Amino acid sequence: MGMSIETIAAPMAPCAGQFGPAPRRATRQVRIGNVLVGGDAPVAVQSMTNTDTADVPGTTRQVAELWRAGSEMVRITVNTPEAAAAVPRIVERLQMMGIEVPVIGDFHYNGHQLLANEPACAQALAKYRINPGNVGFGRKRDTQFAQLIELAIRHGKPVRIGANWGSLDQALATRMMDENALRPHPWDASRVLREALIRSALESAARAVEIGLPADRIVLSCKVSGVQELIAVYRDLAARSDFALHLGLTEAGIGSKGIVASSAALAVLLQEGIGDTIRISLTPEPGGLRTQEVVVAQELLQTMGLRAFTPMVTACPGCGRTTSEFFQELAQTVQEHVRAKMPEWKITHPGAEHLTLAVMGCVVNGPGESRHANIGISLPGTGEAPAAPVFVDGEKSVTLRGDTIAADFVGIIDAYVQRRYGPA
Ligand code: SF4
Repeated sequence: MGMSIETIAAPMAPCAGQFGPAPRRATRQVRIGNVLVGGDAPVAVQSMTNTDTADVPGTTRQVAELWRAGSEMVRITVNTPEAAAAVPRIVERLQMMGIEVPVIGDFHYNGHQLLANEPACAQALAKYRINPGNVGFGRKRDTQFAQLIELAIRHGKPVRIGANWGSLDQALATRMMDENALRPHPWDASRVLREALIRSALESAARAVEIGLPADRIVLSCKVSGVQELIAVYRDLAARSDFALHLGLTEAGIGSKGIVASSAALAVLLQEGIGDTIRISLTPEPGGLRTQEVVVAQELLQTMGLRAFTPMVTACPGCGRTTSEFFQELAQTVQEHVRAKMPEWKITHPGAEHLTLAVMGCVVNGPGESRHANIGISLPGTGEAPAAPVFVDGEKSVTLRGDTIAADFVGIIDAYVQRRYGPA
């Protein structure tokens, strides 16, 4: 390798008593279409389609759905000549819909051929994702990797070098296992494999720079499926390079397990200032929405105080003091309402994403929590008078009663947004 990996100071861990995330680690900034990643840019949310990319209408529709949900970049599989031919048509359709979302091509095994044979695909994509473990085998590996990087250079595109635990470069892993066996005190196998994953990404990045791809067109990722392993890998990766990093727990799983595992891993890293883009790799529940991964990513960043996307609703869990389901329904109604309104408010009422709301089940914590929010409602618990005081910016505003509490409360929220975040 002609280029040595640049080493920067280890990321700052939050010191005792520090409130909030550590400052973001200094990384190179990469432009991906109309999105900046790394440097002082906010942590970006991305997602991936699960449609057959050759299905142009279906893939266009899902990219649009993910974008509308808040995905700032969308990755699509490019695995066949048909998929590669579909890419420019998908991007063109999105543009005709007024959707300027960077579309990223995910390549394994044959990316060098697909990009060379379909220049329109190579041009339409905003970034190429290359897995160094799946570029090719034996002597072909280096040649095909170089071809991919040369295509990125020719088309002026950034590249994510995305190593993955499930497709680790086997030649590198075997070589490192052999080297490890000669150590006076051999590492355990999992440490060797973690190091192989990191080295696969770093050495591939160094090779790409050597070929001529500028370092500010490279994003790195090293995905594994275990929470502790992911934290260990990224701490190490962050300490050993200044490339922008894409974070994600690969194959996180389905439902709450996937959400909890992803959040646990990514929260630790983001708190330490590590990570420039994130994806939550959820397995959709049967019939579930693909956009859930975007909502989870946004909520993770927003609940950590790193970004604001949509008004957040604080709601109590409920207990024996409120036996009605009304407050649960109201909390859901309010969250769905503000999420649905946010694309419009983003343009007409910027800042509305910082609005805080509370929906509480009874008098015990209801008034107190409601006063902490911009707008809060304390619903009557069992045995309380059927009245729901509403608090606006800490002051009691009105008391709602009767069958229209939900509609009235939503009306109060809309009026507040008009008043506080209206155009100047
Ligand atoms: S606010 Fe009231 S209903 Fe809600 S959890 Fe607390 S005590 Fe229970």
